[in-house]
Amino acid sequence: METVTYQRDGERWLTSNRRLFNTEEQAASYCQAMNDYRAMMAQIPQSPWDLSRSEYEAACALVGVEALSDADCTSYGVRHGEFSVSEYAVAVCVQMALSSRRGRAVEAEQAARPKTQPREVEMVLCDCGHRVPRGQRMVASLGTCCPDCYDRMSA
Ligand SMILES: [Zn+2]
Repeated sequence: METVTYQRDGERWLTSNRRLFNTEEQAASYCQAMNDYRAMMAQIPQSPWDLSRSEYEAACALVGVEALSDADCTSYGVRHGEFSVSEYAVAVCVQMALSSRRGRAVEAEQAARPKTQPREVEMVLCDCGHRVPRGQRMVASLGTCCPDCYDRMSA
């Protein structure tokens, strides 16, 4: 695992992944967080990239972060948010990186699911002599009928 370090750069402090900080303290705490993040991420298998529910939960348990629901994994924030250790807690960044991989898998699973066929409409013959979808059949005093014949069939 590559470790992020920092060094003096004129008046400021430059990290090995090219982030510039005004104070040594900021640079040091950023490097610490980044290295913690990389150490946690290094424990998580890279393959498969898209995680099944059980792979996702296992990966979360491995690094000790809470697993989100599939719905949360596909939320816009998780799928498209930028979670940097300079702004978020390391555990949150790891959780979001894992959840985004789960979100990708959920989206693929949803896309692969066959579209539901429109249900065939069952036609029924009414006493009025017309055929109508079962849901439109009405019951009048002279028998079953279509909506058009309802008045005629109501004695
Ligand atoms: Zn009719």
